[in-house]
Amino acid sequence: MPQSRDTVLEIDLGALAHNYRFLRDRLRPETRFLGVVKAYGYGSDSLAIALKLEALGADYLAVAFTDEGTFLREGGVRLPILVLHPQPSGLDDLITHRLEPALYSLRILKMFLETARRREARGFPVHLKFNTGLNRLGFWENDVEWIAGQLEGESSLTIRSAFSHLAASDDPGSNTFTQRQIKSFAAIVADIREQLPGTPFFHLLNTSGILNFPDAQWDMVRSGIGLYGYGNDPEVDPLLRPVARLRTRISQLHKIEPGEWVGYNKGYRAADFRTTATLPIGHADGIGRIYGKEHGAFHVRGKRAPIIGNVCMDMTMIDVTGIPCKEGDEVVVFGNGHSAEDLARGAGTISYELLTGISRRVAREILEEH
Ligand SMILES: *Cc1c(COP(=O)(O)O)cnc(C)c1O
Repeated sequence: MPQSRDTVLEIDLGALAHNYRFLRDRLRPETRFLGVVKAYGYGSDSLAIALKLEALGADYLAVAFTDEGTFLREGGVRLPILVLHPQPSGLDDLITHRLEPALYSLRILKMFLETARRREARGFPVHLKFNTGLNRLGFWENDVEWIAGQLEGESSLTIRSAFSHLAASDDPGSNTFTQRQIKSFAAIVADIREQLPGTPFFHLLNTSGILNFPDAQWDMVRSGIGLYGYGNDPEVDPLLRPVARLRTRISQLHKIEPGEWVGYNKGYRAADFRTTATLPIGHADGIGRIYGKEHGAFHVRGKRAPIIGNVCMDMTMIDVTGIPCKEGDEVVVFGNGHSAEDLARGAGTISYELLTGISRRVAREILEEH
């Protein structure tokens, strides 16, 4: 993918190490740690993140789809990789690359069982995903008996773990709901211990679960956003370090006269004399139109510069009136105290969406831990 070297996403592996240790320190020492590297490592660089997590001592990785796991294997990642949402088209690849599927439905369990038998797999590791209230993906508690029946005497597969996912672990207002999910998972764990007694471990918590419901850590936790430096919590955020920093440069400065328009469809009209900067980053790079019309701001020399008018495909215009700057100067899109969370919130979205949307046209620069 051809990339511009003026718009760069810096990936700070030292920050990743810091966040990993911060989260790890909140867990019981024997709890396993799974690092979630789906969606290209939350938009950063999944291979660099995965290799670093491996070096830091993480126990597991997870991706959403099979090809994301294949990419990591081809890059030399050796940790066990859980594939959270495997699709029928990639079941053979799971076996080829020793990627461990989450089996979440009667259909996918049957299909994977057939694939494993055809490939003459022996004890291939799989995980069972249960629905406890998110109502998105997973078996129901009363499927345990059916699963046990399907796998009785089966030598091609081994159940490695069973897990569920919290719907609102970041929201204190949903505490009662989350406690209900935890109880419901505990009931599933009890059923599995009885009916699938070889199942070695259980897990429920994502990042906000680790922070808010540490008693429910069972044998492993699955953290994504926290590793990347965001805790969904204003008290925790300052203790984490954002891994990704997105910077660009001023291409051109414009003096705008009162009454003039800026950008496509006359998205902005100057009420007085303004100075605008045109930047080589646009919605094709992941800065969506929702950030336009002053719903988002970047930073130039530490000062806030609102996005004016409509974000274009390859360019964005910001208002730099009163900020001493020149063409070629650096602009911070997010990072360095101007967090992706703040930028996202201003436009009514969340850090997850902003981070994962940074397109592959933006060059990645890996900063090693030192
Ligand atoms: C994405 C995902 C996670 C990670 O969640 P964070 O909020 O980013 O920590 C954990 N578990 C499952 C099943 C997921 O899909």
